[in-house]
Amino acid sequence: MLVTGGNRGIGRAIVERFLADGHRVCSADLGGEPPAGALGVTCNVADPAQVEAAFAAAEDAHGPVEILVANAGITRDSLIMRMTDEQFDAVLDVNLKGCFNVARRGVKSMMRGRYGRVVFMGSVVGLFGNAGQVNYSASKAALVGMARSLTREVGKRGITFNVVAPGFIETEMTAVLPTEVTDGFKAQTPAGRMGSVADIAHAVRFLTSDEAGYISGAVIPVDGGLGMGH
Ligand code: NDP
Repeated sequence: MLVTGGNRGIGRAIVERFLADGHRVCSADLGGEPPAGALGVTCNVADPAQVEAAFAAAEDAHGPVEILVANAGITRDSLIMRMTDEQFDAVLDVNLKGCFNVARRGVKSMMRGRYGRVVFMGSVVGLFGNAGQVNYSASKAALVGMARSLTREVGKRGITFNVVAPGFIETEMTAVLPTEVTDGFKAQTPAGRMGSVADIAHAVRFLTSDEAGYISGAVIPVDGGLGMGH
């Protein structure tokens, strides 16, 4: 399997979960070190050539990639009047084009094998919205359309495409937020607390299991109820 952004945060927890389950895992990440036992490949998902090289390395080491978790994502938050073109483009390039790049490459070999599991890491704010995250929420909402179009395009080949939509999860991405923002999110979350990276890894494990072969084009919230109804 291949996980993008698997050296840190949610991606790292996914890599560790699958290693523990006996999978051969490749982490394609910009930097850092993968968990022990995983193959680490340096890759910027926004660059199709680097994505091609990462898949080639994973296939050389492990054989065809049957499970793809497109997890790498970034934020460049700003209110719209102050959001620069660079902030908008950077987020769309990684979060949306990056998912397109890895899905296009992944599907190629999954179609040959007539089996595949693809999970895109969305976000509760993709459908719920969030002030200051016009770029980020738009990129995450777009993944729903991508997963559903891919499901219609190649669903007959035994490949599923789903979106996991985390709520507010304890990682380095959220550690930089001011306390008043963190407290605001907790207050809005029916569970009354932040989620853990393990919560997300469990959902990904289920969606990529053989048993989940009839679930495709779904958005699975893992958000303590924050986004209910959206
Ligand atoms: P982190 O910032 O903790 O980790 C992201 C990882 O992705 C890092 O290892 C990072 O590398 C890597 N990465 C960043 N850009 C690229 C790139 N262009 N190519 C390859 N790898 C890259 O994020 P989280 O673990 O918090 O988030 C993971 C995913 O979950 C993201 O898609 C995020 O949007 C989503 N999410 C997170 C939530 C949360 O509360 N944390 C809530 C909802 C969704 P490096 O360290 O070198 O920057």
